[in-house]
Amino acid sequence: MNPIVTPAAVNPTVDYLRISLIDRCNFRCQYCMPEGEELTYLQQQAYLTNAELLTLLQEVLIPCGFTRFRLTGGEPLLRSGIVDLVQSIAALPQTKDLAMTTNAFRLAELAQDLYDAGLRRINISLDSLEPETFDRIIGNRGRSRWQQVWQGIQVAHQVGFDPLKLNVVVIPGVNDHEVLDLAALTIDRQWHVRFIEFMPIGNAGLFDRKGWVDSATLRQQIRDRWGLTEAQVKGNGPADVFQIPGAKGTLGFISQMSECFCDRCNRMRLSADGWLRPCLLNETGQLDLKTALRSGESLAELRTRVKALLTAKPAINFKMRESGTTGAYARTMSQIGG
Ligand code: SAM
Ligand code: SF4
Repeated sequence: MNPIVTPAAVNPTVDYLRISLIDRCNFRCQYCMPEGEELTYLQQQAYLTNAELLTLLQEVLIPCGFTRFRLTGGEPLLRSGIVDLVQSIAALPQTKDLAMTTNAFRLAELAQDLYDAGLRRINISLDSLEPETFDRIIGNRGRSRWQQVWQGIQVAHQVGFDPLKLNVVVIPGVNDHEVLDLAALTIDRQWHVRFIEFMPIGNAGLFDRKGWVDSATLRQQIRDRWGLTEAQVKGNGPADVFQIPGAKGTLGFISQMSECFCDRCNRMRLSADGWLRPCLLNETGQLDLKTALRSGESLAELRTRVKALLTAKPAINFKMRESGTTGAYARTMSQIGG
């Protein structure tokens, strides 16, 4: 008799690369950055230059099968020359999909140029609809930044980004009272709100104090209010997608805490200083592509090493970390490239 192979047990093609362009950020979100601690940032010469990044994409990563890219950080809109870089990556003939994750603080001024450069999909972090709560979450003490972010979202919508997704990390006692208000954004707008389970990465102290809310609880809350049906939206990620009946947009739930989706993982990460990582929370096998490139290692040799990492990837995952193999939690999402 043939063994029953469930879809979850089949290793998917790894063709999705999340590219961190910068480890710095203009926000200091409570859940992303450590408390009261100075972060050390990369020096300018440590960054992959645009030319190095494009060489790695064209000569190493694309030939190894990566064709779908997300630009992230830190805050990717702080990278100088971001529009030109977007244009160069979008113009690569093998690029099938190019997206960005941003906090949207600079989006109102840049959305049209980014769209014209070839960016089509955008995910924006929006953890609260209340300016005061928002400012508390992002660590802002000056003039409120909420309006600027909200305006960035509106401009991105007008410019035509589609799908336009809003990321929410739900933290008990911080913004969990807003779950229904955030979900309601999808009723009249073709926006896609995604609730991400809070992970103990970046600020483990906050995680220990506040805990986290699982996706099933959030879904139940929303189902009790409006009902929920299964739905679909374009994307490369592990979200389970639902919809309020009759709504224009959708609701996604990213449940990396309550449900291990390592078996479905289709991605690797490239950090701003050129480390290729097979797993968010596990540094086993990671490759220092920048140093290899700068020291003159041949592109053929780099391709061989990336292919070996792709072969090794299925065994490198969160589950392995749980068994105590590595301590990668010391890094924040902004350093790894969230
Ligand atoms: N600065 C951009 C932004 O905030 O959208 C991109 C980088 S940020 C590191 C990427 C994503 O990681 C954001 O959606 C953020 O909410 C998420 N993130 C950061 N720390 C997290 C944590 N501890 N648990 C869950 N998600 C986290
Ligand atoms: Fe910056 Fe994004 Fe991290 Fe917030 S989640 S501190 S915006 S990198």
